[in-house]
Amino acid sequence: MSVDDSPRPPEVPSPGAAPVDSLHNTESAIPVRGWLARQATIQYEAERALASEDLRAFWAEKAAELQWARPWAEVLAFDPPHHAWFVGGRLNATVNCIDRHVYSDRRNKAALLWVGENGEELAYTYNRLYREMNRFANVLKRLNVGVGDRVIIYMPLIPEAIITMLACARIGAIHSVVYAGMGTQALKTRITDAGARVVVCSDFTFRRGKKIPLKPAVDEAVRDLTTVDHVIVHRRGSRPGDAEVHFESEREHDWYDIQQPREIHCPPEMVDAEHPLFILYTSGTTGQPKGVVHATGGYLTGVTYLARAFFQIGERDIYWSTSDIGWIVGHSFIVYGPLSLGATVMVREGAPDYPSPDVTWELCERFGVNLMFTAPTAVRMWMSHGREIPSRYDLGRLRLLACAGEPLNPEAHLWAQKNLVGQANGLVVDNWWQTEIAGPVLGTLPTFEARPGKVGRPMPGVEAAVVDSLGQSIPDNQGGLLVLRHPLPYMMRAIWNDPDRYEEYWKKIPGCYWAGDVAVRDTDGYYAVLGRADDVLNVAGHRIGTADVEGSLLRHPAVAESAVIGIPDRIKGETIVAFVVLRAGFESGLGLKASLKDHIREDLGAIATPSAIEVRAALPKTRSGKIVRRALKAEALGQDPGDLSTLAD
Ligand code: AMP
Repeated sequence: MSVDDSPRPPEVPSPGAAPVDSLHNTESAIPVRGWLARQATIQYEAERALASEDLRAFWAEKAAELQWARPWAEVLAFDPPHHAWFVGGRLNATVNCIDRHVYSDRRNKAALLWVGENGEELAYTYNRLYREMNRFANVLKRLNVGVGDRVIIYMPLIPEAIITMLACARIGAIHSVVYAGMGTQALKTRITDAGARVVVCSDFTFRRGKKIPLKPAVDEAVRDLTTVDHVIVHRRGSRPGDAEVHFESEREHDWYDIQQPREIHCPPEMVDAEHPLFILYTSGTTGQPKGVVHATGGYLTGVTYLARAFFQIGERDIYWSTSDIGWIVGHSFIVYGPLSLGATVMVREGAPDYPSPDVTWELCERFGVNLMFTAPTAVRMWMSHGREIPSRYDLGRLRLLACAGEPLNPEAHLWAQKNLVGQANGLVVDNWWQTEIAGPVLGTLPTFEARPGKVGRPMPGVEAAVVDSLGQSIPDNQGGLLVLRHPLPYMMRAIWNDPDRYEEYWKKIPGCYWAGDVAVRDTDGYYAVLGRADDVLNVAGHRIGTADVEGSLLRHPAVAESAVIGIPDRIKGETIVAFVVLRAGFESGLGLKASLKDHIREDLGAIATPSAIEVRAALPKTRSGKIVRRALKAEALGQDPGDLSTLAD
């Protein structure tokens, strides 16, 4: 591939101009399902009206659904870029997620239905979770872990990992989960940045049937960190004395050995509403990892509301999120949101296509799953295996499939609508948010039509806008920067150890929060997210979002996955280079590449046609399934790609 050395185009478009062209094609809408709309948990228009009438009263009403030890004095103190919610209030997250159910008729309701990668199954009632959380909270207390201390959790998606998160929250310690697929260096960076005193890990994790040891990575990471006082090792399979796990020093403990069976009560530490509940490091698809900090009161208020209002979780539902606790989805919508509601959460360790592409649907049928949350990349993977697989199973109870994390291309949306929720006459809904904002911000609800290719509308309480680089609104149907004009309780409060990086989110567009995405809004208030501003393609003066071109490629029958980047071009500013993974049965060749170019020319116009198309066996993705265009670009330009610690391979 030929590249030249002309300067990179400016990152933020010139003032006043429509910063991004929208080449979006409108797909046919998916009409409201009457039966779902009738049982919707909120009435969208009414909730929006309430919020716009008095935003503080709106969130105060949501917060009042939680149990507080002391009421707040002020709903919101906003001094941009800082915002504090429910100021003066005190609460404990686990009282809300566990105790209040244990002291109700939900006491023996299943909280977690866990399935291991190897097929092992366990059920945890709210009462069992209460006892195990408290036992481990007492362990941490005995090790002198207290309010504000940081605990790193490096464990696979097993109940003990969730128990550890809850145990930290019980005593006011701040947990920071590091995805168990990350390596030594990523782990060490996070332990160091968080200043963690304790690391809790498992002996190993499974990955596609392989046993991957985790303890050696911890040993290596903490070797010369004197700040780490304790390492607690949860043995999944290995027994004391096994060759598999070595205890090397006095600071290491066995998870079971240090628990006292009878210590099933641990008084909850009531913390300030603004006390950090957790730090979650994200490097996502750009830059160095940042420790995103979420605050107890506002976070819990937001995720509890959204678990009901967006995910539609009801008392009798079985809800399954295919994410991992290493990501924000896992924090908000495996653990805190659903448990706060008193829901039954299905939790499964392992890839959604391992040991076979049937596994997800076999489990859905067997457990009678009603609601599911997954990623577009998973939908495209199921799509590539064909519709026969889900059609073999009874999915008649699966009424809602929510997707987030990346653009859900219309083909995948319509395929899932027909083949995954079709049996139940259900709905597939998109939703947009980020690690920095811990729950859906834009999304589709069952009370209004879904528009494939568009995420949906702002959730109640959200003031979103599409603006130019001066913060001025851009007319509908033109692309620009996606901003929020008002903070949300479930928005981060800080970047750990890095106030400047936090301020950047509020600085670029004065008075607004901007986290780097570009979007377009239609005249009915539906938003389509066009991609990251850093990835926007700048071709001959046209600024084109990656989602438009990638979505167009995915409309071609030969393409299973796609990614596009812009590389400098002396004449056009940039030219587009596309990377595609082909579907089974299609072969790479000049004919195919010409056909792909013709397809885009016809679909989006000549301006969006790539100058080169490369066929790949796989695309670089984060372990949460997002395409890392930056890695492709660095490779094409022979540059350093920066931190790639979250890359899958
Ligand atoms: P993360 O913080 O790693 O979850 O990444 C958040 C980013 O993922 C957002 O800023 C978007 O760029 C992208 N994203 C998340 N959800 C969607 C969605 N529904 N459609 C398009 N992009 C999305």
